[in-house]
Amino acid sequence: MKAMDFLQPQHLMISIEKEGPEKRVKQSFPLRFGRYSEIRTKDFEFCFNLNGEIKSIRGLKPDWPHPAEQFKRTMGNDWVYYTVGDKSGHEGVVSWMGEYYLPCLPYPSNPVWEIRYFSNPVIMNAFAEWSQLFANLYMANSQGMYPHARGLIERILANDDRVLYERSQELNRIIGARVSVLPPDTRHADYDVIPLIISDGCLYHCKFCCVKSDQKFQKRSKENIQEQITALKHYFGADLVNYHALFLGNHDALAAGEDFICFAAEEAYNAFGFRQRMDQRPFLYLFGSVGSFLRSEPALFEKLNRLPFYTYINIGFESMDPDTLSLIGKPVTSGQVKEAFEKMMEINATFDRMEITGNFIAGDNLSPGHDNSLALLLKHAGAKRKSKGAIYLSPLKDSPKKRELLPRFYTIKEESRLPVFVYLIQRL
Ligand code: SF4
Repeated sequence: MKAMDFLQPQHLMISIEKEGPEKRVKQSFPLRFGRYSEIRTKDFEFCFNLNGEIKSIRGLKPDWPHPAEQFKRTMGNDWVYYTVGDKSGHEGVVSWMGEYYLPCLPYPSNPVWEIRYFSNPVIMNAFAEWSQLFANLYMANSQGMYPHARGLIERILANDDRVLYERSQELNRIIGARVSVLPPDTRHADYDVIPLIISDGCLYHCKFCCVKSDQKFQKRSKENIQEQITALKHYFGADLVNYHALFLGNHDALAAGEDFICFAAEEAYNAFGFRQRMDQRPFLYLFGSVGSFLRSEPALFEKLNRLPFYTYINIGFESMDPDTLSLIGKPVTSGQVKEAFEKMMEINATFDRMEITGNFIAGDNLSPGHDNSLALLLKHAGAKRKSKGAIYLSPLKDSPKKRELLPRFYTIKEESRLPVFVYLIQRL
């Protein structure tokens, strides 16, 4: 960025360190959590993490679409636009996402509702304002302005767009992979998770899957896990205190087994300084497959339940219908899916610090047997704890009429005894 090209006077209101509630709660307004810095201009609010990396931009003028809408930058350096959608209440974003916002991703995914935010100049002006602010901070620093905020300004200037991009690449180098999809349950931590890869590849290579790698399933070594932890601690630096969630990757970490999962979770817990915040334990997230889940012994769940985390394991069920399973190239039987579903119900009723959730596909070209068997399964799910065991419906990426899936989603949701949401495939 060349500072001189952009320079226009701005009055800056700089808050070097602000502190929001440390426990995350869901609310309709984007309350800031943890510790951060904030700079306000007349028209925009910019938030930075404790390393001086930009985290979010929100418009303040009346023509900004909604006061709760904002851009958020992920650790993967994606700018995600958080919209509140155009309907509220029963039919709004919260009813199908379980959150008060819908993340609009700047890369192809499987959204049921696309908001073309990039064609709105009011929204896209946020990036021009960010460049403007960066240029003004550069000048302010060279002229010794805002002396009380000198340290913050220097941290921000050290994190220009090129550095932010390189940092995202460095994260991938540290973990030796790219997290191409996060478990849907990471929404509870607003997708802010520390990734730690304990295994690569999958047990299956499902035909329909858009996130798989070509690798065969393979565990990492314990040395590799320790090396990642050391490097991640250095990488997140001062901002580590703001993290309250760990993702053990990659696509089927459950298949790595009890010893590996618990080793990685315990080592990370100690190294990253996780702790309970009020009544909220740190979150532990992982994916499992039908095969690895059915093979997991009770001892694994008992041990996970004793960890100082609240653990979410997300299982890819995909379908109960044999024709659909064969159509999407998933090498499991409907009997195994049913067995795994029942195991999920049992574990959710037994353990209080753990929750198994499941994914099913949704698409407009699938056999009626898929929708019918799924609706029936959820209608008769004998949930003892109705708030646990969320089911996520994941629209197939190449399904042409995703928006039209919503009425079918509502029908399934209304009749289900378990919570049902839409799964948006989001990378780190
Ligand atoms: S659906 Fe899951 S198990 Fe199948 S290839 Fe994709 S990530 Fe692997």
